[in-house]
Amino acid sequence: MSRLLIIGPPGSGKGTQAEHLARHFQVPAVSTGDIFRSNVRRKTHLGNQAARYLDDGHFVPDHLTNALVKDRLLESDARKGFLLDGYPRTAPQALELDSMLADHGHVLDAVIELTAPDAELEERMQRRALEQGRTDDTIDVFRRRLDLYRRQTHEVVSVYAGRGILVSVNGSGDPGGITAAAIAAVEQFLAAPRPPS
Ligand code: ADP
Repeated sequence: MSRLLIIGPPGSGKGTQAEHLARHFQVPAVSTGDIFRSNVRRKTHLGNQAARYLDDGHFVPDHLTNALVKDRLLESDARKGFLLDGYPRTAPQALELDSMLADHGHVLDAVIELTAPDAELEERMQRRALEQGRTDDTIDVFRRRLDLYRRQTHEVVSVYAGRGILVSVNGSGDPGGITAAAIAAVEQFLAAPRPPS
């Protein structure tokens, strides 16, 4: 069982890869974007608070997002391991995750970064807009999400790189090949001896 997270720009295919990787590593995939969208659809209190941020391509405020993740990680299926998708996205969220895990004597085992050129991200978003009709898949909102990724989430990636737990995977090309490459890279990383942290 492992504690993993996947991080990548909008359109990098992290949701799809998260599903495959979670199945392989036998952990639940926890996608903050999916949880927010499901709450918006069901018009829950959280959904009503989060809807406008999602539609505009802004981050949902940290206090709402952190509380949601904290609750989710306490559920029994996530106690022994998980694959977080879409969280943390800001430096304060990364700190909060550290403290959630430290409360139980846990640490993250590996962080998978999916990379892809901007042109490919935009092309995939346009395809997804036709297939799934997500309200945040319009060109302006997409560019805002990409800009937020570059300005805020990159910092989170750097923190994990500095900790020596970042596994970067080329996310461009055929999804099946990307899954295979990601599984191989993570397995190799987890099997390698590491100095005590
Ligand atoms: P993508 O990465 O393709 O933009 P996600 O499904 O991961 O899509 O997220 C969709 C939206 O959900 C984000 O644009 C944001 O509004 C909200 N969201 C998801 N995760 C977080 C988070 N960790 N912090 C703040 N907002 C979030």
